[in-house]
Amino acid sequence: MSTPAEANPLGLCGQLPRFDLFATEQVVPGVRALLARLSTQLDAIEACVEASWDGLVLPLERMNEGLAYAWGLVSHMLAVRNSEALRTAHAEVQGEVIAFGLRQAQSPAIHAGLLRLRAGETFGSLDPTQQRIVDCLLRDARHSGVGLDDPRRARFNAIQAELADLATRFNDHVLDATRQFSRVVRDPIEMEGTPPSLRELTAQNARAHGEPGATAEAGPWRLSLDAPVLFPFLEHGACRPLREKLYRANITRASSGNLDNTPILEQILALRHEMAGLLGFSCYAELSLDAKMAPGVAAVDELLEQLRRASLPGAQKDLEQLRAFALERGQGEPIALWDVPYWAERLRENRFDYSEEELRPYFPLPRVLEGLFTLARRLFAVDIVAADGETPVWHPDVRFFRVRDAAGQPIAAFFLDPYSRPGDKRGGAWMDDCMGRTRRATDGVLRQPVAYLVCNQSPPVGDKPSLMAFDEVLTLFHEFGHGLQHMLTRVDHGLASGIRNIEWDAVELPSQFMENWCYHRETLLGLSRHVESGERLPEVLFEKIAQARTYRAGSTMLRQLYFAMLDLAIHRDPSAGRRERIFAIQAEIAARTTVVPPLPEDRFLCSFGHIFAGGYAAGYYSYKWAEVLSADAFSAFEEAGLDDGPAVAEMGRRFRETVLALGGGTAPMRVFEAFRGRPPSPAALLRHSGLSDLPAGGVATERGPA
Ligand code: ZN
Repeated sequence: MSTPAEANPLGLCGQLPRFDLFATEQVVPGVRALLARLSTQLDAIEACVEASWDGLVLPLERMNEGLAYAWGLVSHMLAVRNSEALRTAHAEVQGEVIAFGLRQAQSPAIHAGLLRLRAGETFGSLDPTQQRIVDCLLRDARHSGVGLDDPRRARFNAIQAELADLATRFNDHVLDATRQFSRVVRDPIEMEGTPPSLRELTAQNARAHGEPGATAEAGPWRLSLDAPVLFPFLEHGACRPLREKLYRANITRASSGNLDNTPILEQILALRHEMAGLLGFSCYAELSLDAKMAPGVAAVDELLEQLRRASLPGAQKDLEQLRAFALERGQGEPIALWDVPYWAERLRENRFDYSEEELRPYFPLPRVLEGLFTLARRLFAVDIVAADGETPVWHPDVRFFRVRDAAGQPIAAFFLDPYSRPGDKRGGAWMDDCMGRTRRATDGVLRQPVAYLVCNQSPPVGDKPSLMAFDEVLTLFHEFGHGLQHMLTRVDHGLASGIRNIEWDAVELPSQFMENWCYHRETLLGLSRHVESGERLPEVLFEKIAQARTYRAGSTMLRQLYFAMLDLAIHRDPSAGRRERIFAIQAEIAARTTVVPPLPEDRFLCSFGHIFAGGYAAGYYSYKWAEVLSADAFSAFEEAGLDDGPAVAEMGRRFRETVLALGGGTAPMRVFEAFRGRPPSPAALLRHSGLSDLPAGGVATERGPA
């Protein structure tokens, strides 16, 4: 039986997506029909706001579900089955979807209703998750300017529009400036040291730019500032003057002429400061942290400073080693910034003489999945079983799995799209929300969560399975960690179940936690099996992987701290919106966080899209914050004894009942403390990075960043 709603897969909220019915030409009419229906519902809610959970929050949740399902499906297909037609359809309705979200977020009637619910007598009878959802909805409404009087709200909205426009221009300038720089190399001596993959790519670039006869072997080769060209060249190009040229071009990208981002930085910082002021915050950093796990700017400062003090000596030692090594290999000149990646790679090759290619045959995908699922069973008492064919998928390579609890009952499901498909699939790896867990208010029926796990690893060749690089194994564990949090949630409210409603700086806890297991000897050896000989990964290779983990850890950490501290500093200084001040702050922070100081003309901020055109403004610290949480969580397992089966199982249950089960329904600091029995401590991260000699058991009394 077919009804009109069934004809369009975007309208099937609550069911597994019908990828077999998905058709690009249905996107625009499907989304418009849905928005029309939701707008009528929103009108009805606004017309008579009832200040109760069932009368206000539940209808909001249902609207949210419908839109998240349909738009999530479109966005997912855009990422995994991209086409010109789908891009056009997506672009055509994207503005309408955003406008609907804004209308809901800025609705004065809903805001007033939420305030009445918060102050009313029934609030106390809501469960703690419901209370948190109301508080988070109120916070988001406040941050969207709904509580402002008319002139202030008008100014707030004007700032928002201007900031969106500035972010677009910022990105356009970076793209154009990147495109503007190129250097065609004709002399093979200038390409000395570069790997075949880079020669192939740069010859291909040359062919696309007026050199039809370019070949990987004979050139010419076209160098550019695109990451896949720039970084391999800085790491491997033996030609020092050319490295310098590329390095200098990169750190001054989009900082002069008609593509100069400096005035845009000034405006963005000034507008963000003004916006924070309108909302009652002293600076933009305070506004950003108001919606995060970190309790405040001071707590972040304290953590970053602690990490800085611990990593600086390591970074200095790294530099000394590079100097000695470069000198020994014949570089008489002092180490410059454009020498660091080059010599760091030479030293790495010298110390850990194995290649990714050597590891691949030990990690065929089917074996790695088996090992990962065994680990999930051991830690979290869940069974993961293949269920291919039970539901349509978007590509023949996509797998479907069901997750069962210890009693054999299905509790969740996920899709796995493992291989790279450059033709129509976005690069990178991610986990996304296909459906969230909710319990229907009317009859108590539970809808199970479903996740998308998407990787871009090497596809199978011939009759051999996909052979994974160690990094690809890490990535799979990472995304699976996100997936576990989405799927093992016990929260029954769709606005806060799984990965929903989790603070930005806490969301990487389960994913990075899972990565730690790849450095556990028994786990890694257990999931390795040579594709031909069937042998486990040799001990000696495991040792090298384990040692390579801490190679230059002080330098790597210090670099992240430079970015994090600078990001925070420019978002709290009221006068950072003036160029002298921005670059003075950069110099001050660099003096404390670099061992080779940046050049005076360094303008990397002009291409730092994370904080000027992405979501990381006054939030770059989140990388380190989440790493502290995940390392500290893993150290609970180390303290229990990683090879003590029952102890690990018990700790795993505890992790499942807290971090994985409570999700966005409980404040993340409380979730962490419920698992760890104390606030987070950076000791484990420092120890895993080889930056302290603290024993595993010695961290329990450390003072946390909170
Ligand atoms: Zn992640």
